[in-house]
Amino acid sequence: MNKELKIIQKEPIAAIATPVGEGGIAVIRVSGNEAIAKVNRAFDGKDLRDQKSHTVHFGNIIDQSGKVIDEVLVTLFHSPRSYTGEETVEISCHGGVLVTQQVLETILELNIRSAEPGEFTQRAFLNGKMELSQAEAVADLIHAKSKKALDAAHQQLEGRLGEHIKTFRQQIIDATAMVELELDFIEEDVEFANKEELEELLMDLDKEIDNLLSTYEAGRLVKHGVKTVFIGLPNAGKSTLLNTLVGKDRAIVTEIAGTTRDTIDVDWSYDGLLFKLIDTAGLRETEDVIEAEGVRRSQKAFEEADLAVYLKDLSKPFAPEEREDLGGFQKKAGDTPFVLVGTKKDIELEKEEERLDYDLKISALEGEKIEELKKLMKQRALENKHYDASSLLVTSSRHRDALLKAQEHVRSALQALDRGMTGDFLSIDLRAALNELGTITGEITNEDVLDSIFSRFCIGK
Ligand code: GDP
Repeated sequence: MNKELKIIQKEPIAAIATPVGEGGIAVIRVSGNEAIAKVNRAFDGKDLRDQKSHTVHFGNIIDQSGKVIDEVLVTLFHSPRSYTGEETVEISCHGGVLVTQQVLETILELNIRSAEPGEFTQRAFLNGKMELSQAEAVADLIHAKSKKALDAAHQQLEGRLGEHIKTFRQQIIDATAMVELELDFIEEDVEFANKEELEELLMDLDKEIDNLLSTYEAGRLVKHGVKTVFIGLPNAGKSTLLNTLVGKDRAIVTEIAGTTRDTIDVDWSYDGLLFKLIDTAGLRETEDVIEAEGVRRSQKAFEEADLAVYLKDLSKPFAPEEREDLGGFQKKAGDTPFVLVGTKKDIELEKEEERLDYDLKISALEGEKIEELKKLMKQRALENKHYDASSLLVTSSRHRDALLKAQEHVRSALQALDRGMTGDFLSIDLRAALNELGTITGEITNEDVLDSIFSRFCIGK
């Protein structure tokens, strides 16, 4: 940890840090100026003001009339050795909804205010305990729904993105130094001595930013999950397949065509990757108002999908209507990975007039080729996305946007260099690139950005 932290202790805040519900214990966190002395006023036990940092004390939380609210353990953290960097008290009380609420209320009566979402982490950032990208990783960690999302958040929390950004920033600072050296000599009409070196440095940087940017598509899928739509004619076996994959009866399966009236979304993890499976209502014309709404939502789901799986019932001939349906989807899918699956292999028609190029033929009923389908879905979803399990992924659109802008400035500096423009033009571009990179780690920031980042957090974090 950085030893030269300058801690600012703000007014104390408090919040329940554990999820609402019944549990063994709940934790109420208090952080800020004089947090220990304030909590001490509601604590019946040792005088907390005399205790060392990182110690735990047993006692009661009492209200102003001296009534016992709960038996608790308090853990003390002196500044700067806490999550926020401020003086912090963590009160572990019994884990009932009401008890926890009463302990919190007692604390709030001590002239301590309720914390905003993410306010503890925001203070940790403002006190230099972590970079902005690390603070964001804390939120990602909490929201992670798959192992790979968790891994990506861990990497970011460790500061690996920050390290990359630091290297980039150093490269720009080096480039700026070269440019400024040139500026010093400008009156003497000296040729730009380092032009080639500078050009090489900026070109390297451009490429490195590119490499990092290229991980964003995979990063986005890992973080948010692969939106997967199941499409095909009614009765093709979409709901059945979805149930087979997820292993429980979430979608309704019936023999009447058009029973899936709305889209049904199910989170499903396979091999560490989250898939958001969407069973569509089918996309045919309909008179029924409710069904029409379902169709509209299905259309939207298809347009937003990261992976489309078209199911063709092998027990039925390939009707012209279906040919049109499939063709239309293949065309509309564009770059979205598309998997063509034959279903009901167990009752496949002997004579299939139209041979289609199936990726797989499955039987959900008999469990045939289901494992293969799962593997194929994962492979297709991450294909051409520069996914490498061990390397750092850019998972946030905020980071991607900043990297893109920084890259633009680097490229424009390169152009300026190419056109033989003077150093001051280059300096402007380089400084702008430096700023963009600084917004990722938080060296450069503004209130709006911080607010929007920390509002994603839960209260108590
Ligand atoms: P959806 O309209 O595309 O969602 O189709 P459903 O999943 O509701 O399935 C329609 C019918 O096909 C149901 O009666 C299912 O039991 C049946 N079905 C689905 N998959 C299979 C399969 O692999 N083999 C057989 N024999 N029947 C299946």
